[in-house]
Amino acid sequence: MDVHDDLIEQLADVGRAAVEQGLVLASGGNLSARLPGSDEFVVTGTGTYLDRLDFDAFSVVGLDGRLRAGNPNPSSEWKLHQRTYQVRPDVNAVIHLHPQYTVLLDALGHRVRLISLDQAYYVRKVENVPYFPSGSDELAEVAAEAARNCDAIVMGFHGCSCVGDTIAMGFRRAQNLEQAAMTTFRCLQLGNTELTFPPEWFDKLATV
Ligand SMILES: [Zn+2]
Repeated sequence: MDVHDDLIEQLADVGRAAVEQGLVLASGGNLSARLPGSDEFVVTGTGTYLDRLDFDAFSVVGLDGRLRAGNPNPSSEWKLHQRTYQVRPDVNAVIHLHPQYTVLLDALGHRVRLISLDQAYYVRKVENVPYFPSGSDELAEVAAEAARNCDAIVMGFHGCSCVGDTIAMGFRRAQNLEQAAMTTFRCLQLGNTELTFPPEWFDKLATV
């Protein structure tokens, strides 16, 4: 199996898990991975179902925005992936999902708080960007700009873009972001508006 096929298998596994875990409805969201040592990335095609991704579901797109191979219709949100790879050479995967607690909290004007060790360790920081239409240049640009210094971006009234040096890390980040949003939601239900992971330990997380 070559690298391209391996990445597609990993993305297909993530797509299935994301739908099973309620992080996106099957027809929403899109996933990508940078092809190592190239200026290209594989991205899910438009109209594909994340829980049923096969090899034909994927397009190969260049960082210049040109379709290079595969599915002739890349996701309408391909620019989000392209711009993010352009500004983050260290990022090899972009996981774009529609996690409902994350979106709801943000829409209600609450920040997602990182409370447990896993949430703090994997997510670290959350940036929010306002709503722009799906697939627009504006959305791709503000989300990529936010990703310069952050690995977990909440896209207003829409979803999240979580990045990682690997596909597994990008997905783990998205899972922990949504879990943090659920935890924050429960805190708010209990009347708590302040709780976070202990700040004095936060800076020491790199050594965990
Ligand atoms: Zn979306």
